[in-house]
Amino acid sequence: MSPTDTKASSLHQPLLAWFEREQRALPWRETRDPYRVWISEAMLQQTRVETVIPYYRRFLERFPDVRTLAAAPIEDVLAQWSGLGYYRRARTLHAAAQAVVSEHAGLFPASHAALLALPGIGPYTAGAVASIAFDEPAALVDGNVARVLARLFALDGPQESQAFRTATWAIARELVASVSRPGAWNQALMELGATVCTPRDPACYRCPVRTGCSAALTNRVDELPRAKVRRTQIEVELLVLVVHENGGILLRERPPGGRMAGLIELPTIETSGDELIAARTWGGGLEFTEIEPLGAVRHTITHHKIGARVAAGRLVRGHPGATWRRVEVSELGTLALTGMTKKIAARGWLEPDAALKRRALNGI
Ligand code: SF4
Repeated sequence: MSPTDTKASSLHQPLLAWFEREQRALPWRETRDPYRVWISEAMLQQTRVETVIPYYRRFLERFPDVRTLAAAPIEDVLAQWSGLGYYRRARTLHAAAQAVVSEHAGLFPASHAALLALPGIGPYTAGAVASIAFDEPAALVDGNVARVLARLFALDGPQESQAFRTATWAIARELVASVSRPGAWNQALMELGATVCTPRDPACYRCPVRTGCSAALTNRVDELPRAKVRRTQIEVELLVLVVHENGGILLRERPPGGRMAGLIELPTIETSGDELIAARTWGGGLEFTEIEPLGAVRHTITHHKIGARVAAGRLVRGHPGATWRRVEVSELGTLALTGMTKKIAARGWLEPDAALKRRALNGI
C-alpha cells in the first residue's frame, strides 16, 4: 500500500461528507447528462463560476443537445460564446459535437479513452465528463485541485514545472481509483479548492481534511504551492472607430488564424499615443478618418492590457467589400462580437446620435 493509499482512506469519507453538506448549488450540478457536464466544464476553464452561469443557461437554451450544437453554424456558436473569451474552446466544442454525431450516432462516448479521442477534449475535460456523468474512476487536475493536492501532500516543485504536473496527476489518479463515488470526489476536490483551500488565506479552520494535511501540519500553507513566475502584461493601445455608413455600422470579421479569429469587431488599429502606427491593418484597402472622440475603454485579454480610444469616424477611401459589413444596431445582439466591441456597444456609442449626446453632456 503506497503512502497515498494510506492517506486516501483518511481523506475520502470526510471530504465526500463535507461536499454533500456544503456544495454550492450550481446549475450544472442538477444533472449528470454528459452533454451538459461537458458544456459546463468547457466554459469553466479559465473563467469564473459567476461569469459562466448566465452563459451556460443561454447556451443550453439555444443548443439543448449535442445534435442541435453540431447542426448549428459556427457563427451562432461564437455569438453565444461572445464575451467568455478563449474562443478556441467554442470552435473545438462545435467540432467535437459534430464528431459525437457523425462517429457515435449522437451518443456521448461513455469512457475516458473515447472522450479523449474527441477534438479539443483533453485529460481534464475527459476526466470530468467520465467521472461526473459516468462515475468512471478517472482523475482530473485543474488549478484548484493542483493547489489542494500540493498542500495535502506538501508538493514542493514550482507549479509550472512538468515534475509538479506529473506529481499532481499521479496523486489524483491514486486518490480517485479507490473512492466509491469518483464524480462526487473530483467535484469535492475542486469545490474545496474554490471555497476553502483558496490561493490566499485558505480557511483551514473549517477544512474537513485538515488533520491529514501535510502543509497545515508543518505550517507551510502559505508557501505551497510555490508561486508561478508571473507573465509580464503587454500594454496595447488601440484606436477604435464607430463608422456609420448608409444606415448601418461598419464591422469586419477578424482574419482566420490569429487571435479571436472569426469574431466581429469595429474598425480597430494599434496606435502609439495619438500616432497611427499601423494604418494598413484597417483591412480591405479602406481608409478611415477620425471625426470626434466618444470616450475610452479598458479591456484585458489573457496577458494583454488594452486601452482603447473610441471615436466617431468616417470612411474616406475604398468600398466596403467582402471584408466589411454594414450592420444595424438592432442586429448586433445576434453577432459574435469581440469583447471590446460589446463593451463599446454597451456604452451606447454605436447609436447614431452618440457624438451628439456626448457634446450635450459636456456642454460643448
Ligand atoms: Fe488547504 Fe488548509 Fe485544508 Fe490543508 S488544511 S487542504 S491547506 S484548507
